[in-house]
Amino acid sequence: MSLRRVGVVGGGISGLTAALDLAEAGCEVTVFEPASLGGKVAFVEHGVSRLPTGPDAFLARRPEMIDLAERLGLGEELVAPQAGQARIFRDGRLHPIPPSVLGVPREVDSLRSSDLLDDRAVTRAAEDLDAAADRPAHDESVGALVRRRLGDDVLEWLVDPLLGGINAGDSDRLSVRSGVPQIDALASRNASLIRSADEMGSAVATDAPVFLTPEGGLHRLLDALDQRLRSLGVGFSPTGVDACVRTGVGWSIATPRGRHDVDAVLTTTPAPVTAGLFDEATLADAGAALRAIEYSSVALILLEVDLGEAPVEPSMSGVLVPRLAGLDVTAISFADHKWPWLRRESGRRLVLRVSVGRRTNTSWIALDDHSLLDRAVADCSTVLGLDPSRFDTTSAIVTRWRDALPQYDVGHHERVSVVESAAEQTPGLAMTGAWHRGLGLPACVGAAQRAAASLLD
Ligand SMILES: Cc1cc2nc3c(=O)[nH]c(=O)nc-3n(C[C@H](O)[C@H](O)[C@H](O)COP(=O)(O)OP(=O)(O)OC[C@H]3O[C@@H](n4cnc5c(N)ncnc54)[C@H](O)[C@@H]3O)c2cc1C
Repeated sequence: MSLRRVGVVGGGISGLTAALDLAEAGCEVTVFEPASLGGKVAFVEHGVSRLPTGPDAFLARRPEMIDLAERLGLGEELVAPQAGQARIFRDGRLHPIPPSVLGVPREVDSLRSSDLLDDRAVTRAAEDLDAAADRPAHDESVGALVRRRLGDDVLEWLVDPLLGGINAGDSDRLSVRSGVPQIDALASRNASLIRSADEMGSAVATDAPVFLTPEGGLHRLLDALDQRLRSLGVGFSPTGVDACVRTGVGWSIATPRGRHDVDAVLTTTPAPVTAGLFDEATLADAGAALRAIEYSSVALILLEVDLGEAPVEPSMSGVLVPRLAGLDVTAISFADHKWPWLRRESGRRLVLRVSVGRRTNTSWIALDDHSLLDRAVADCSTVLGLDPSRFDTTSAIVTRWRDALPQYDVGHHERVSVVESAAEQTPGLAMTGAWHRGLGLPACVGAAQRAAASLLD
């Protein structure tokens, strides 16, 4: 079958990247997106700035987003955040994060001096250095691995808050293998996670950036991608897709505005939505596998504050709030400290990016925006030690992301393998998205490029 017309379902970063590769290969591409192009890569106007309400940067240690930026002419303009030191909130104080790989400490001494854990917890973590290898042959949760090797405190006050800042998940269900490849690599390297973390940490140059974004903000990459797609003749249909039906020679894509015949379909929608697009005969077991992938909801609140005398230095990028703190807020990011183009004349007045909600806490979802904002202000006051009157709620912007972050639970690899083999056995079908091979932007881009290549092959 020669591949001429392709329908891409979903216009987030996955869909737009796949569309780019397909259009550059000469296909006639239509992207079906009922909401805003970019999906979670979204922005709002705030004063004179355009602020992200989803991601603001991407991991620099994977190549895919850097390569995409280079293809779009933005390679020279990638910059690292100017502030990189996060803190962890515990017992009314902001503690520095000891050198670690995603919360797995690199040394016992610096864990002790960070003052985040008490002596008993540090002694328990140090047992990891001498304990025999005990990794099971099967996949396990990050919680099971870290609790066993390093103790409950390292999991709950370090690893879980760091991972929760990425996926708003629950480490006791998160698969080591599929959810956190870096921790999987640590566990495969040595019996001791601390030793592996130190070896891997030493192998990375200390001045190498961890995150990057285009100077001026991530919206520049989305704008450049949008422009490139339009110059390649990619079509955009502002409609959701109801169904994708095989026609014998290709596919018929059904939308509320009518049907579109194409040779191939590439879906980038959330997993349960994807399952609902096809009939049972097409997906077979893959339908159940997709529906089994659960999602967490989060809210991202942009909130102005006058920091006054709060113990927040310009080198601080943000604060992580562990689950055991019992608050709705999970993280506070100091956007102005990270990105110089946002900085105001008074360095003490800034916009906070406040994250609310995690898999184990959904009580905030039922609140209206006003009550949600009140709770966020109360939590931020507690964390930063500030009077609530210092927060400007009149200019706050609340963005709710319902069922936004796919959860890579133990068994995810097997579920995804079932979906991949259903796609391989169905001519002209590829399925990807944030549920597939990682939810960070580089992972989404990489998976979308492989999905496009599978159709072109
Ligand atoms: C608050 C927040 C902060 C984040 N921060 C970071 C960060 O700093 N760095 C990072 O790397 N990652 C971050 N992420 C994760 C990352 O943004 C997402 O995983 C990624 O953008 C997902 O891209 P996607 O294209 O796969 O999915 P989406 O962006 O969700 O796109 C899927 C699209 O499908 C559309 N759709 C749904 N149903 C249909 C249908 N029936 N027909 C057609 N279209 C449909 C939706 O409207 C949506 O636009 C963050 C996520 C959130 C929510």
